[in-house]
Amino acid sequence: MQALFSILPPMTRIVSKFGGSSLADAIQFRKVRYILEGNPNRKIVVVSAPGKKDPKETKLTDLLYAIYDLAKNGLDFSEPWKFVKGRFIEITEGLSIKSTIREELEELEKSLQKQSDDLSVDFVVSRGEYLCAKIMSEYLSAKFIDAYPIIQFDSQHRVTQESLDNLAAALADPEPLYVIPGFYGSDMQGKLKTFTRGGSDITGAILANACDCLLYENWTDVSGLLMADPRIVQEAHSINYVSYREIRELAYSGANVLHDESIAPCRAKNISINIKNTNNPSDLGTIIGPTPASVSKTITGIAGRKEFSMVYIEKSMMNKEKGFGRKVLGILEDHDVSYELSPCGIDSMNIVVDSKSFHRVQPIVFAEIQQKMQPNKIKIFNNLALIATVGHGMVSQTGTAARLFSALAKENINVRIIDQGSSEINIIIGVSEVDFEKAIRAIYREFVD
Ligand code: ASP
Repeated sequence: MQALFSILPPMTRIVSKFGGSSLADAIQFRKVRYILEGNPNRKIVVVSAPGKKDPKETKLTDLLYAIYDLAKNGLDFSEPWKFVKGRFIEITEGLSIKSTIREELEELEKSLQKQSDDLSVDFVVSRGEYLCAKIMSEYLSAKFIDAYPIIQFDSQHRVTQESLDNLAAALADPEPLYVIPGFYGSDMQGKLKTFTRGGSDITGAILANACDCLLYENWTDVSGLLMADPRIVQEAHSINYVSYREIRELAYSGANVLHDESIAPCRAKNISINIKNTNNPSDLGTIIGPTPASVSKTITGIAGRKEFSMVYIEKSMMNKEKGFGRKVLGILEDHDVSYELSPCGIDSMNIVVDSKSFHRVQPIVFAEIQQKMQPNKIKIFNNLALIATVGHGMVSQTGTAARLFSALAKENINVRIIDQGSSEINIIIGVSEVDFEKAIRAIYREFVD
């Protein structure tokens, strides 16, 4: 496979987003510089907050959340603050740059001490990205563009079209190298607002869309996606190419390299996303793009998640009872539980829900269904895991489902839920959590090994 940037038109700008692990210390910053120098089209840089240097450390963004809580409650925040401050100063010193960071840190510390009312949690946690972008722009002598006044959310927390136009205008000059902090923007009232966690990926995608880039590079600490979680399948192969639709299914089911909301802005303009490794920049990584990959492979990947519950309802002549499904789902909605899947039989209905939101309301939902729907039988199964086997290749190959189920049967795995969407690019099965890892390994062996 050819490196994607080598086939782009010469003046096409690339958005390069660097995640926390690519910014953990001065050594990582130097790697970023080396990567940017490797291709003059890498003109738009988005950064996360510095990540962990050691897996035992607490993530800097989490520390900022803790600092805000402590300060708000008038408690001593000096210890986590010392760590955060120390990390930024250590990076600037390691890079031997003149920086305004000390003053910025002092100002933030003072506002925290004053516990001023307009100091919001979103503002405090966004400082991880803000300060990191400041240092990066100083280090690269690049133009710093703050996301706060430009990226705006509407009342539904969606990025407005106006923001995209404003971003395009702010970055209209193709010459400079720009550095923009990820993870935040502002609401309609002009208050700073963050995206959901991991949201710097979304900032990068929005920039790629606004500036009509053909490529969005997402630099992290792995060389792309693997066909299965390497903690479960040790020798899992890497995925060279995956379509937007496939990645959406895999990400929903637990494969998490990229924030799932970063797909839509790229998909809207057919922008390819390249997941790359800052520590191994010559690895090609994974490309996420519009067209299905070659269908010579039956499956593209397997992903899964634990902690699901299933409500099984049986009632004879259910199919004739108008509004049955709507009423059952209405009961869940009343208790703020959304459903994930609902495979149905003629006289039975299964509703799969996330256990975390379901557990606290389980008894009351059970009682209400019983009272309002008068089923012949109702049962709740907990400790379920969902596994998605994904690939465009499945559409054109007969017998894929048969192969999958016989591989599971050979391992004595009882399949509790089966769901194959009409798109045929995904077969979801539900198994008991104890069989989760064994099932993924069995499917992998059947289709990949
Ligand atoms: N620093 C933020 C977080 O930890 C955003 C990001 O890294 O993308 O969620």
